Amino acid sequence: MCQGERDKATDSDRDVKQSICEEVVERDQGACQDCGRAAHDPHHVIPKSWFGKKNKHLCERKENIICLCREHHNQAHTKAARVRHLTLLRERYNYVYDSQPWIGALGEAYPVD
Ligand SMILES: [Zn+2]
Ligand SMILES: [Zn+2]
Repeated sequence: MCQGERDKATDSDRDVKQSICEEVVERDQGACQDCGRAAHDPHHVIPKSWFGKKNKHLCERKENIICLCREHHNQAHTKAARVRHLTLLRERYNYVYDSQPWIGALGEAYPVD
């Protein structure tokens, strides 16, 4: 699944490491987190370029990767979608983002408690 047809993936989704990919697919049970259909695309919720040089490695954590079907992946590269997915991951898996050094890139769009 991880090596599937990802020709249309934008940003740095192609860089998702196999080990992280497997972990995320298992977490999401291979289902698109938007619609529940089979998911073929691991997607970086926040793109690498938003992390800055120093924090780039944080992009490749499971907290920042979500399984999506092709259709929802194609709609996932807007700021609104990124905030929505981050919120979804936070609620579904109790991830904590508020203290992440890169969260500021989202500005007021991200609802920090
Ligand atoms: Zn979907
Ligand atoms: Zn993507």
